[in-house]
Amino acid sequence: MQGDPRSHGLWEVSAPPAPATRPLTCAVRADVVVVGAGYTGLSTALHLAEQGCDVVVLEAVDIGFGGSGRNVGLVNAGMWVMPDALVDTLGADQGERLISYLGEGPSLVWDIIARYAIACEATQAGTLHVAPDRAGVAELAERHAQWARRGAPVELLDAQATAGRLGTTHYQGALLDKRAGTIQPLAYVRGLAAAAIGQGARIFTATPAIGMRADGGGWQVTTPQGAATAQKVVFATDAYTRHLMPQVQTQQVFLPYFNLATAPLPDALAKTLLPQRQGAWDTRQVLTSFRMDRQNRLIFGSVGALRTGGAQIHRAWARRALARIFPQLGAVDFQHQWHGTIGMTNDHLPRFHELADGVVCFCGYNGRGIAPGTAFGRSLAGWLRGGNEELPLRPSTPQDAPLRNLKGAFYEFGAQAFHLVDARI
Ligand SMILES: Cc1cc2nc3c(=O)[nH]c(=O)nc-3n(C[C@H](O)[C@H](O)[C@H](O)COP(=O)(O)OP(=O)(O)OC[C@H]3O[C@@H](n4cnc5c(N)ncnc54)[C@H](O)[C@@H]3O)c2cc1C
Repeated sequence: MQGDPRSHGLWEVSAPPAPATRPLTCAVRADVVVVGAGYTGLSTALHLAEQGCDVVVLEAVDIGFGGSGRNVGLVNAGMWVMPDALVDTLGADQGERLISYLGEGPSLVWDIIARYAIACEATQAGTLHVAPDRAGVAELAERHAQWARRGAPVELLDAQATAGRLGTTHYQGALLDKRAGTIQPLAYVRGLAAAAIGQGARIFTATPAIGMRADGGGWQVTTPQGAATAQKVVFATDAYTRHLMPQVQTQQVFLPYFNLATAPLPDALAKTLLPQRQGAWDTRQVLTSFRMDRQNRLIFGSVGALRTGGAQIHRAWARRALARIFPQLGAVDFQHQWHGTIGMTNDHLPRFHELADGVVCFCGYNGRGIAPGTAFGRSLAGWLRGGNEELPLRPSTPQDAPLRNLKGAFYEFGAQAFHLVDARI
C-alpha cells in the first residue's frame, strides 16, 4: 500500500481487490460519520447501514491501511490476558460479561463472512497456543482451567498430540481453542467494506479527517477537500490515529510485530506443517506465531520492526528458528515481509471512550482486534441507533501511557537483541 511492500506484504498480493472508492471532494451529510476503515469502523458502518442508517466512512489512506490489513489473521476468542485477570481488573460482573461477549466474537466473524460471502481464506479449524517449555505448559494448563470453568470449547493437548497438530516435536503442549481460526486479514476488511457499501454506506479513501467543529446539535468533520456532517461521530483509528484525537493513541505503547512468508511450498511438504491448518503462537515473552495460507505459504512472525538493523536481524533469526522448529523445510527463502504496530494499554484491555458529546471510540485491542473489533462495531451500531444495546465496556477517560516512546523503543530494540542471540544453539 502506498508503494511500500513492507506495510502489507503478502496480504496485499493475495487479497481480492478493494471495492472502488474515491476521496471526498464535497460537503456531505449523514446520520453517523465513522473515521477509520478497519474492522472497528467498517463493522460499525456495516451494522448501521443494515439498520437503514445513513453512514459515511472517512479513511485517511486506504481500506485496511492500519492493523486490519497487516495482522497475523488469528481470529481468537477473548483477550491476551487470562479470563481471571480480566475479572480482577473489571470486577466480576463486567468482567464475566466481557469474557462471554468476546468468547462469541469469532462466531460473529464467521457469520459475517458467510452472510456476505467474503472470500478471505476463512479457516474455522481452531487456533493453538503452544508451549515450548515447562513454564509454558503450566501457563496453558491454567488458561485451560479458567476457560473450561466457563464452558468454553478448549482442549489441552499433550506433547504427542501437539506434535501431531503442528508437524514438529519442538513444543511440549498446546491449548486448542475450537471457537477460533484464521483469515486473510486484508481480504476480510475489504470484504467488510464491500458489504457496507452494498448496504448503502459511503466510504471515502485518501480522505483524512483533519478537523472537527460543533455544527448545530452534531459535528462537522473536515477533510482536505470536503466535509462530512452528522449527529454522531465514531473514531475507529486505534494505533494508526493521526491528525485528530491524539489521546486515542497516546494512551497506548506501540509494540511492533513483523511477519515473513515463504514461497508456496510443495504439497507433500506443506501437508507436514500444521496439517489441520490451525494458526499457532507460543507462550514466550517475545512470542512467535506461525500459520499457513491457502497457497501453502508458511507465515512466520514475531515481535520487531523491519527497519533500521531490524530487517536483517529478524530474518536471520527466523531462518535459524525455522530450522529448529520445522527442520523438514530445509533452507528457507522469504518472498514477503511486512510489519505493523500493535497498541498496548496498561492493563492489556481495550477501551471505550466518549470523547465529546456524540463522539465515541473503541480502541486499544492489544493484538486481539479481529473478533473484538468486529463485535464492538456491531454493538456500537445498535447503541448509536438508541436501541437497548448494552456496550461491552464502560466509558473511560484516555490517560497518556507514561514513558510510551521509551517503552516502545524497548520493545523494538529489545526484540532485536533477543533475536540476535535466540535459536543459535
Ligand atoms: C502486526 C500485527 C499483528 C496482529 N495480529 C493479530 C491477530 O492475529 N489477531 C487479532 O485479532 N488481532 C491482531 N492484531 C490486532 C488487530 O490487527 C487490530 O487490533 C485491529 O486491526 C484494529 O482495528 P481497527 O479497525 O480498530 O483499527 P485499524 O485497522 O488500525 O484502522 C484504523 C484506520 O484509521 C485510519 N485513520 C487514522 N487516522 C485517521 C484520520 N484522521 N482520518 C481518517 N482515517 C484515519 C487509519 O489509516 C487506519 O486505516 C495485530 C496487529 C498487528 C499490527
